[in-house]
Amino acid sequence: MNKQNGSRFPGFYKLSVQQRIKALSDLICHLSDKEEWALMRETLPYKIADRMSENVIGVFGLPLGVAVNFKINGKSYVIPMAIEETSVVAAASNSARLISEHGSLTAVAEDPIMEAQIQVINVPDFSAAAIRILSEKKNLLRLANRQDPTLVSVGGGAKDLYVRKLQTVGGPMLIVHLSVDVRDAMGANTVNTMAEALGPEVAKITSGEAICQIITNLCDKSLVRSRFEIQVNCLARAEFSGREVAERILSAYHFADADPYRAATHNKGVMNGIDGILIATGNDWRAVEAACHAYTARDGRYRSLSKYQIEGDKLIGEIELPIAVGVVGGVTRFHPGVRIVHKLMGITYRRELAEIVAAAGLVQNFSALRMLVTEGIQRGHMRLNAPNTAYFSRATIGNAAIEAANQFVRQGLIVFDRAKERVRKRWRS
Ligand code: NAD
Repeated sequence: MNKQNGSRFPGFYKLSVQQRIKALSDLICHLSDKEEWALMRETLPYKIADRMSENVIGVFGLPLGVAVNFKINGKSYVIPMAIEETSVVAAASNSARLISEHGSLTAVAEDPIMEAQIQVINVPDFSAAAIRILSEKKNLLRLANRQDPTLVSVGGGAKDLYVRKLQTVGGPMLIVHLSVDVRDAMGANTVNTMAEALGPEVAKITSGEAICQIITNLCDKSLVRSRFEIQVNCLARAEFSGREVAERILSAYHFADADPYRAATHNKGVMNGIDGILIATGNDWRAVEAACHAYTARDGRYRSLSKYQIEGDKLIGEIELPIAVGVVGGVTRFHPGVRIVHKLMGITYRRELAEIVAAAGLVQNFSALRMLVTEGIQRGHMRLNAPNTAYFSRATIGNAAIEAANQFVRQGLIVFDRAKERVRKRWRS
């Protein structure tokens, strides 16, 4: 429902919060007065919060920004991100602009298959149990599908079932995997309900004992791949030519892929672009975090989530992620802020949201790498952080902090505590 052709918003960052909301309402999708009011003041009323969780004592805020300039598969997007970290939204928007002007960004999601696991122990004969389970597949799938007729009515439902034998320190186990097409839902509740319905039946068929019946968040049958290409000559930064920057990015990727210490931070940069979207769209970011980190360690070593290569005059970035998101179900049904975000994004299919999430993660990672291998992360980060630091230090310790903060930015030092210290010293002298 993005009405405009491009999501280019030159100078969007210079507008006030009210003006930004008005621009989105005018250019992307109409927001009612009530929705505009909710965005500014109350994305989650405490009465709804009190029903969502336990022992609620309030509602906890996060800045909600929009990353602009994204063109994915030829379609323009404004991407909401709920994130407290300075510079993520700006970096994503800048790199998305660079890619849309000098390259392309694509993403494609596989079918939305989520799986449940049923753990069975004390199985007397594994081979016989596995054969009996597979011969009962049709009935078991039917039983699973009876748990969610709505999902079946929209074309989803339990589609397959297979068996693994797992050796553990506690002895061998039979693990039954149930594959469910969850269509536009994230699927955890649905899949868990199906697994729990199957548990007793599976125990009976195998003459074993069912212990855990639960979704696996490692949804590697629901992968999303994203790729960008960009002309190397537009990557020039600081004293480095575009090709030098591309080569340095490649080297940084090799480092991350070979070393878990580096990979953890490299991948945190990917998740910087992802978690904020998941939070803003009411999705289970813990599940996606767990899935991505497990997936990237699948060959026994924790690796880079993204890959880079140089082909001729292009830098190519790629990512493959297990992304479980929903545009129906979960909190999307009743969280007012989440509903506004979905309206703004204009997305009605899980597949499209998953593609946006993967593309944003990749673009964010590219952005961080480009900064890291040229200016260094702190300089760019601090440039954006300086006004905040000045603002907050003024709130706590007085106007002189602004000058001190700016000085530290110029000197390339970590700002806030040092600025405070400088101000204190001045007051004492
Ligand atoms: P849900 O329970 O709200 O189920 C979604 C339902 O929407 C489906 O069962 C289906 O009946 C209905 N539906 C209508 N139209 C549909 C369509 N087009 N496509 C698919 N379904 C459609 O939500 P869920 O997605 O099953 O579960 C998500 C929630 O589960 C999240 O809030 C998550 O935090 C939570 N959760 C996660 C875990 C985990 O390990 N990741 C575990 C437990 C719970």
